[in-house]
Amino acid sequence: MKTVTIHAAGDLRIDDHREETPGEKQVEIAVAAGGICGSDLHYYRHGGFGVVRLREPMILGHEVSGVVQTVGSGVSAVRAGDLVAINPSRPCGDCDYCQRGLQNHCRNMLFYGSAMRFPHVQGAFRERLIVEESQCFALPAGTSIHEAAFAEPFAVALHAVSQAGPLIARRALVTGCGPIGALVIVAARFHGAMEIVATDVVDEALEKAIRVGADRAINVAREPEAMAEYAAGKGSFDVMFEASGNEAALRSGLDALRPRGILVQLGLGGEVTIPQNLIVAKELNIRGSFRFHEEFALAAALIGQRRVDLRPLLTHTLPLSDAKEAFDLAGDRKRAMKVQLLFGGDREAFPHRPDA
Ligand code: ZN
Repeated sequence: MKTVTIHAAGDLRIDDHREETPGEKQVEIAVAAGGICGSDLHYYRHGGFGVVRLREPMILGHEVSGVVQTVGSGVSAVRAGDLVAINPSRPCGDCDYCQRGLQNHCRNMLFYGSAMRFPHVQGAFRERLIVEESQCFALPAGTSIHEAAFAEPFAVALHAVSQAGPLIARRALVTGCGPIGALVIVAARFHGAMEIVATDVVDEALEKAIRVGADRAINVAREPEAMAEYAAGKGSFDVMFEASGNEAALRSGLDALRPRGILVQLGLGGEVTIPQNLIVAKELNIRGSFRFHEEFALAAALIGQRRVDLRPLLTHTLPLSDAKEAFDLAGDRKRAMKVQLLFGGDREAFPHRPDA
């Protein structure tokens, strides 16, 4: 089978990989769609991020959907032909953090397509994938392979919203409207936010932000003064979701937070300066948000029931053979929001189940 493998910065290859067979509690997936994430792009462009560096070839990808091909003898939750969203998060369940319900902080986490550990955890951009039954979330008829592949990034957004606490009737600021920022807008709207203001420096991204539920979109490169009105009177927002990793966005957002407001940091820009006086004087709360756990099931359910519509965020689909082009496109924010690779798996390729 073919895989999308990163060998070093800029060296992305379609490699051949041997196929595996599922064990008793495992499921063989024909991978359908796979979204390219910012972390995949970091490996592609820079060979890693921060202290996480590629030390051996690694199959990329962790936002995938697929169709069940075969199941092990002990599998009962899914059957051949099911369209599933695949949870790429594999906490051990035994370590102290897992035992405390903090599975996203598992000491032995095996998250797809991550070079945090060595040997690296191989990813899901491949034609066939063997997963645990517990990683499969079946989606109803009518859900596309593309929507299913949004379950993972939407789970990230739902976790960020969980970190913020109740949003009902709150005013929220979202800085950075790439796929994660846009999905945070959807999640915040779903959780009852009264007003959502989005900022970015790319008009195309801001158009998507409005499309998925932001009340106002501000291009801070073109109208830098627009944020000043929100900073008046000690600030306007109860919650800020920082999804850009940009220091200027963080700073102007902190100015616009109300006393005791909450910053949820999602963007990874590295080392930035924090205004201590502001944090102290306004008693601001700073919270990180990293991956997800129980939110994956919620994401799959909300997508499957179409209680959220993430389809406007998909801008391009390209075949596996055009992976390099797809990665270049995914890095071009003026042209692309979410780019998905297609791996050949498709529900229509399976005989119709009599009870489906
Ligand atoms: Zn663990």
